[in-house]
Amino acid sequence: MDEEIDQKVVLVTGGTQGIGLGIAHEFLSKNYYVIICARHEPKENIFENYEKSSMFIQCDISSSESRENLIETIKKNIGRIDVLVNNAGVAPPERKDILEASEEDFEYVIKINLQGPYFLTQQLVNFMIELRLKGNIENYHPSIITISSISAFTSSTSRGEYCISKAGLSMMTKLYADRLAEYDFPVYEIQPGIIKTPMTNGVKSKYDKLIREGILPIKRWGDPKDIGKAAVTLAEGLIPYATGQVLNLDGGFHIRRL
Ligand code: NAP
Repeated sequence: MDEEIDQKVVLVTGGTQGIGLGIAHEFLSKNYYVIICARHEPKENIFENYEKSSMFIQCDISSSESRENLIETIKKNIGRIDVLVNNAGVAPPERKDILEASEEDFEYVIKINLQGPYFLTQQLVNFMIELRLKGNIENYHPSIITISSISAFTSSTSRGEYCISKAGLSMMTKLYADRLAEYDFPVYEIQPGIIKTPMTNGVKSKYDKLIREGILPIKRWGDPKDIGKAAVTLAEGLIPYATGQVLNLDGGFHIRRL
């Protein structure tokens, strides 16, 4: 390791834009060291004034080799990890009715949205356990936060693979929450609703109309900052004695209404 990091360290997958970038900025504002990873380098200097407390590592979370390299880079250059935010995710390349959608698109979405986070969590948690057992870090209280979606419980028949991947993340949260309770590592899930990001650019007018017509009790788009603030709250341990918890950050979308 080149230099000791005495700040808390968070890894935000897919932190180069959208929700992940919003989360990264909230952690930076709380004095965390922020590592982001994505398949492509950020186009601009997204962490101006925070260059010394941030790092970009290229990684495709759907590839085990790439994940391995990510973890080795963190171990070698940073030497600790306090928070994992599983945020990276993709929509299907094309929205297609489930009676016509391809197996190729299914595999693409599941590998990135579900298999990648499942095994990245496994690998990073093993590193967290190692750090806990070594006992070198004072007040070491790691946590795992996964960004799923309202699609974990909402049917959209033109993107079945996406919904299934998000429902899978909900079970992943429960499994890791159960398994890691003995180490006192809380595991949380955030289910965002309709959030303004590059992912939703292409469906902006559709969602503008739905929001105008009242699909959400809180009649506005969500902002990546909304998700970032919640993630920091969870990581800071401000909701103690909870694990496997789901936070609905969706303007009230999940409320059944009559
Ligand atoms: P976005 O704007 O498309 O950003 C996605 C991020 O993930 C990018 O940084 C992207 O970078 C990265 N990424 C994609 N595939 C990756 C891979 N294989 N390996 C590593 N990084 C990868 O999406 P967003 O709207 O911010 O969404 C972020 C998360 O929130 C996703 O999981 C999404 O499903 C979820 N979500 C979004 C909404 C919404 O309304 N926007 C609602 C609910 C849930 P590269 O392309 O360079 O890899």
